[in-house]
Amino acid sequence: MLITKAIKGTKDVLPKEVHKNQYIEATALDVAEKYGYKEIRTPVFEHTELFQRGVGDTTDVVQKEMYSFDDKGGRNITLRPEGTAGAARAFLENGLSNEALPQKVCYITSCYRYEKPQAGRLREFHQFGVECFGSQSPLADAEIISLAKSIFDNLGVKDISLEINSIGCPECRAKYHEALKEYFRAKQDELCDSCRDRLERNPMRILDCKSPVCSKIAEDAPVVLDYLCDACKEHFEQVQKYLKAENIDFIVNPKIVRGLDYYTKTVFEFVSNSIGAQGTVCGGGRYDGLIEELGGQHTPSLGFGMGLERLMLLMETQGCDFPESSKPDLFIVSMGEKATLKAVEIAKDMREEGFSCLYDINGRGLRAQMKYADKLGAKFTVVLGDNEVSEGIAKLKNMQTGEETEIALSTFVSGYYNITLSEQLADLEINGEAFDFGSLFKVGDNE
Ligand code: ATP
Ligand code: MG
Repeated sequence: MLITKAIKGTKDVLPKEVHKNQYIEATALDVAEKYGYKEIRTPVFEHTELFQRGVGDTTDVVQKEMYSFDDKGGRNITLRPEGTAGAARAFLENGLSNEALPQKVCYITSCYRYEKPQAGRLREFHQFGVECFGSQSPLADAEIISLAKSIFDNLGVKDISLEINSIGCPECRAKYHEALKEYFRAKQDELCDSCRDRLERNPMRILDCKSPVCSKIAEDAPVVLDYLCDACKEHFEQVQKYLKAENIDFIVNPKIVRGLDYYTKTVFEFVSNSIGAQGTVCGGGRYDGLIEELGGQHTPSLGFGMGLERLMLLMETQGCDFPESSKPDLFIVSMGEKATLKAVEIAKDMREEGFSCLYDINGRGLRAQMKYADKLGAKFTVVLGDNEVSEGIAKLKNMQTGEETEIALSTFVSGYYNITLSEQLADLEINGEAFDFGSLFKVGDNE
């Protein structure tokens, strides 16, 4: 076994690309905050039973995909396959259910599922998720859909379609299950083993089966929308009304049932055709029964999970804009002990002023230091030797234009900077834009 080989289905994010992830995550959190969501952080593992109850033990996730193990104390533990169950557990355990409702929480989490790795399908993947605990209004359904949509819009994602459906409440579901059972029983022998097992326990799961034979059979199955009770029908119509009020386009797709058992009423997916078979970037819905299932009071709730790897794949495929990776503002090339000490001093001040400032920590020669600074993409460099330190003057080089400016070293240190340097730097430009060293200079504070 190679110790330098990562586990199948996992992926490293390298320093040169992490700014893209950070951008997506920051955008998602920022949008969520505007809708009143605050981050919640829960453990990566939970008691296995939480997922059996919360996700549902007839689901693929629980039946086939969980990373479960006994810890040394004999507890059966599972690495979270999704974020909702943990958030719901935390909501109950920490008494958030007694605080003002709705409680709106969001998270960025790693999730673990033992699946066949392929494009857009990993064994460790990441989700941005939101959960809104304690609202039964269709306004809430439309609002979280709007939130997800707003994240895509803010990131410049195009061609992503919203598909919605209602899978009803337990009452309409019971009738629907009967209709499904009747339909599938007639074709029982053709179904895959899992689906034959699902037939009696949870026939709706068959509609979500990925086997081609089962999907084919499912095509003509009864449609849940025909079985909705009046209240569920009304709820679904209201959701659509509010979506229209926000000019959010959607299609009603009666085939969406979602992979997790806890959903009721509204379910939705954001789907793209640009990234192959794994096109569902975001999935969510209402889960009015979950909190009760976990031992709490009846608390109508809803949420969604957005697959961050799929979102990244989609953005890259579509050529969406990402911000550039950040570059050091200043690299101090230093020669000799005195100059190095000065470099350390200047760097400390610069960093305190909010700039990123580096110097050589490998004791390399001038050329090698310059080369390194260039590789890092430093915006400015300054070369310090014994002379520069004793005369207190050095050359500041704009690495983009090659332009050099003499500056007084005294202007860098001690937190007080004189106007001379400010004036000298005022004209410096990077990419045609004035490069603002402004906050370095506290004019008038110069003692
Ligand atoms: P799928 O039908 O693709 O298996 P799912 O219904 O199992 O998805 P959810 O449990 O709803 O997915 O998770 C929400 C989102 O998380 C998905 O829409 C997807 O973007 C992402 N996701 C789910 N499983 C994986 C995985 N194995 N690798 C990467 N992303 C995933
Ligand atoms: Mg799945």
